[in-house]
Amino acid sequence: MLKIPTFKNLDKAGKKQKYKRIAVLTSGGDAPGMNAAIRAVARAAIAHDCEAMGVQRGYSGLLEGLIHPMGPSSVANIIQRGGTVLRTSRCKEFLTKSGRKKGYENLCKQGVDALVVIGGDGSFRGAKLLHEETGLAVIGVPGTIDNDIAGTEDTIGFDTAVNTGVQLIDKIRDTASSHDRVFLVEVMGRHSGMIALYTGIGGGAESIIVPEVDVTVDSICETIDRGVRRGKTSSIIVVAEGCKFGGAAPLAKALEKRGHASHFTILGHTQRGGSPSAHDRMLASTLGSVAVHALLGGVKEGMVGVKGNEVVINSFSKLGKNPTLLPKEFFKIAKDLAV
Ligand code: ADP
Repeated sequence: MLKIPTFKNLDKAGKKQKYKRIAVLTSGGDAPGMNAAIRAVARAAIAHDCEAMGVQRGYSGLLEGLIHPMGPSSVANIIQRGGTVLRTSRCKEFLTKSGRKKGYENLCKQGVDALVVIGGDGSFRGAKLLHEETGLAVIGVPGTIDNDIAGTEDTIGFDTAVNTGVQLIDKIRDTASSHDRVFLVEVMGRHSGMIALYTGIGGGAESIIVPEVDVTVDSICETIDRGVRRGKTSSIIVVAEGCKFGGAAPLAKALEKRGHASHFTILGHTQRGGSPSAHDRMLASTLGSVAVHALLGGVKEGMVGVKGNEVVINSFSKLGKNPTLLPKEFFKIAKDLAV
């Protein structure tokens, strides 16, 4: 069970920060559970006598002034829906100081005095600058299927994406074992192998190929051959899209050249969609609520996240560049289990 921080003593002035209007937006890549986070921010703000405002289409909508009030019933019936009802975008203009100033002015016009940004590390770089340049209180909530954000061990959408991947592997395994085939399953992850690692172990894969761990075609062939020698007739190999081979299709070609015919399936954007898992709903509800509590407790900037079994807040300036978060010991476990 996650331990929730209390914010009673955080305000240096010794009294609770009072905001009139707290706005929320979703930015960058979408992730299942973002709706649950939007709902949590809106309802927590309303529960604490603030007005909740929704910004459509991320930073683009901020620049276009697409900022609307959100009543408690405007977020009814969305906790179970994938995607984001506020929609999301990528916005080049927000990379400029003048763009961010325009966004800030639009928030001021609507009487918004605090903002919650649900997104990934790119969105938080923008949030950090917005806070620094305008003084606006901005809190980030990590929403990305990749689970590759510094400052948190879990992100909204990761668990659902992994569950989707595991369910699809189960189906592929049925056909792989019926036809005695090697199947490559490509999962998302341009720079991070986190989805591949969890999907691979959860799906019982023979091999897991990720950007962070170097493997050769020879070593993959050896794993397949070892399986064959001990009577395995089919194999599942999970491949992160950003691995050094360039994904499942080129790896299938390379394996074929070594005499290992294989089929491949690219799960692609299926992992981004779908109803969020119970875990992601719980995480999103918790982090969205804590984001509002933090604002009201006087925190002016930073990202809520999970460390161990605690909800924590890290200043945006501490997030820095993403470290390699992949827990490599799990590859040894995956190898042992594929023996
Ligand atoms: P994610 O938040 O999922 O990592 P992106 O990296 O695409 O997605 O970032 C989403 C948006 O955040 C960008 O389109 C841009 O508007 C804003 N953003 C990203 N990086 C910066 C930056 N260095 N400065 C200002 N805004 C940024």
